Amino acid sequence: MTLRLHHSQFDVSQNTFELAQDCIAGLSDVWKRIDDLVFSNQARVLRAFGNTRVSLSHMWPSTGYGYGDAGRDGLEQLFAEVFGGESSLVRLAWTSGTHVLKTALFGLLRPGDVLLSVTGTPYETLRPVIGISSQESEVSGNSLIGLGVGYRECSCLVDFESGLIDSNDLENALAQHITQDNTVILVQRSRGYSSRKTISMESLKRFMEIVGRRWPNVMTFVDNCYCEFTDVYEPPALGVSITAGSLIKNPGGGLAATGGYVVGHKKYVNLVAESLYAPGLGSDAGSNPYGYRDVYQGLFLAPKVVGEALKGACFASLFFSKLGYKTDPGPFESRGDIVQQIIMEKPEALIALARAVQAASPVDSFASPEPWDMPGYSHPVIMAAGTFVQGASIEFSCDGPFIPPYSAYLQGGLTKEHVVYACMKAKDALDALEIIPDR
Ligand SMILES: *Cc1c(COP(=O)(O)O)cnc(C)c1O
Repeated sequence: MTLRLHHSQFDVSQNTFELAQDCIAGLSDVWKRIDDLVFSNQARVLRAFGNTRVSLSHMWPSTGYGYGDAGRDGLEQLFAEVFGGESSLVRLAWTSGTHVLKTALFGLLRPGDVLLSVTGTPYETLRPVIGISSQESEVSGNSLIGLGVGYRECSCLVDFESGLIDSNDLENALAQHITQDNTVILVQRSRGYSSRKTISMESLKRFMEIVGRRWPNVMTFVDNCYCEFTDVYEPPALGVSITAGSLIKNPGGGLAATGGYVVGHKKYVNLVAESLYAPGLGSDAGSNPYGYRDVYQGLFLAPKVVGEALKGACFASLFFSKLGYKTDPGPFESRGDIVQQIIMEKPEALIALARAVQAASPVDSFASPEPWDMPGYSHPVIMAAGTFVQGASIEFSCDGPFIPPYSAYLQGGLTKEHVVYACMKAKDALDALEIIPDR
């Protein structure tokens, strides 16, 4: 039997449906390349499961101190191998990406040390952690700066155009900013709410070669949020001291209910463990009374789920660019994260898109998003997230800082079909409101 799709099945107009079908046809080569990426990463993950000898008993819960928790230890062995690092800490005690990054930075930095961001001002929620939030009154004594850590930033590693930087320029720029050995260099791969390119693994490789040769005592720290499994290897394989991320993004595969990870050199992972628990306890303690099945299965699914999110992002980019909106990355550009920016230009267009994404969600489809002052952000944000796991941005979601140029950041998508469906609904909603982009 051949199934013939028809616009009435989706409750969208015929021209919307046909545009979506054209976009899907136009993406066949791009989607094929993503299939190959998924295949390669699935093999990497399966090999690690085999080497770790994962069995059903690894999924069992533990209680109290969690001494001898085999599920926890197996998971950490898996993450270390999959990410190509010496050691890892994977814990459900971490609530979010920000919490992981905070714990890790506080574990590595001492008063008098310097944190140097080479990818510009870090992600919004990290600014209060460093102590650089815009409102003076909000700077906490518990921030890094409050505790006597120095902070500097530059955009040495950022190329706004091609995403790849000249090695000599990079070395010279770094030399101006690295003034002491006790420095942690922070690289945020994903762009956050900024208009720059994602830091590709190729750029990171050049950067690590330079730092390793010229500043071997300096620590390197990668915020890997949104970037896991978008390439065939991960930053720890390049010798990055600590790489960190959230389990409710890419590596949790949509199943992990909370948690985070760090992977890197053993001595630095131990420092992070002391920061999360206590000096003397390190990584030996830490229980989980609910069991680890979702985290193991989530990691197993993660390459495929990231592939779906990447395909959805390419689709959204092509679909909205055909409607006349500027999109970044472009549909055929290479990608290093799962984020898609669509510049909506008008506040009413951003609201309409967010509401359409919400209405097309499996959970809370009846809710209607409004811009609000979300904790950790310096301007109102409109967010659509009808997710099974609260705030999980590996599930299809849409955030927009409610300031010009009214950009929507789409991310995630457990199935590409969900993203296609939501984009079609968004076009119909924009059409009904007679919203069209300026040209
Ligand atoms: C999501 C994200 C974080 C952490 O955000 P949480 O919402 O706390 O998980 C940090 N950096 C980047 C680049 C991110 O995308």
